[in-house]
Amino acid sequence: MRVVVTGGAGFIGANLVAELLARRQVTEVRVVDDFSTGHKSNLAGLAVTLYEGSVLDPELLDEAFAGADAVVHLAALPSVPRSVADPLASHHANATGTLQVLEAARRAGGPYVVAASSSSVYGANRELPKRETMRPAPMSPYAVGKLAAESYLAAHHHCYGLDVLPLRFFNVFGPLQSADHAYAAVVPAFLDAALAGRPLTVHGDGRQSRDFTYVGTVTEVLAEAVLRRVAHPDPVNLAFGTRTTLLELVAQLGTVLGQPPAVVHAAPRPGDVRDSQADGTRLRALFPGVVPVPLAEGLARTAAWFRGR
Ligand code: NAD
Repeated sequence: MRVVVTGGAGFIGANLVAELLARRQVTEVRVVDDFSTGHKSNLAGLAVTLYEGSVLDPELLDEAFAGADAVVHLAALPSVPRSVADPLASHHANATGTLQVLEAARRAGGPYVVAASSSSVYGANRELPKRETMRPAPMSPYAVGKLAAESYLAAHHHCYGLDVLPLRFFNVFGPLQSADHAYAAVVPAFLDAALAGRPLTVHGDGRQSRDFTYVGTVTEVLAEAVLRRVAHPDPVNLAFGTRTTLLELVAQLGTVLGQPPAVVHAAPRPGDVRDSQADGTRLRALFPGVVPVPLAEGLARTAAWFRGR
């Protein structure tokens, strides 16, 4: 089986490439990446065919998708604050980029397409847990782009018969996640600061909550989706319904690291949602065999990776 991973040099992408290469059914993994937020070093030692460039380049996609059985579309400019700073760049990469991927899949004769959407599409809708049937209410350009992306997947299923699976990722964390930029996610930002002896910056009061998912759980779902060609045109949450406040996360990191980190509070970030917790019913029905790695275990593995960098 030949699998294309767009954004394969990124955090989730490179973890997925390693997982796919470990599956005997997978004969080739092709990566499409422009290295805008990902790193070539993430692919060191992994036997991939690299297509360097943007998902906005249809010719590059035609080359990469020729003869492919499946496409895992992860390429995007992630982060809510990045999209607030530059909404057009976010829209081009995330919404138009997804449409280009789907059109290339159509030209290539219809490989299976599974793509990353985001829990941010629930936005201003305060109801918990987040069920996929709830009304989306994006609060940031990033969320708008992801809502467009998953809607294009559904459209390509209904109009052209593509087998698709839009997955709404929640807060994914784990090895390879970058901490060295202004838009770093909370777990790597906290680990990086704590290991360097700096205080952790908590935006707002720290009582905002998230449904954290260890990257190994995410890549297991993605690999299974590809191998079993799990199709579902309506979005599916990729999280298991846990709810952890940032202050609880700080406490758990203190346990993992052996000493409680110092915390400073900063202003809340515009576009950030207050609480996030998935209803995992749809996910569990489609992937009954996947058992999530618990938060404490995932944090321990991630801290070990950060220490060894
Ligand atoms: P990441 O930044 O590490 O990976 C994204 C990858 O896409 C990078 O390698 C980057 O170079 C590449 N890329 C960006 N624009 C591109 C373009 N135009 N053409 C080709 N490649 C391009 O981020 P990640 O955390 O691994 O995220 C992977 C996917 O999951 C993204 O779609 C993101 O929006 C989604 N997601 C992630 C989370 C999370 O918690 N990490 C949550 C929700 C959704």
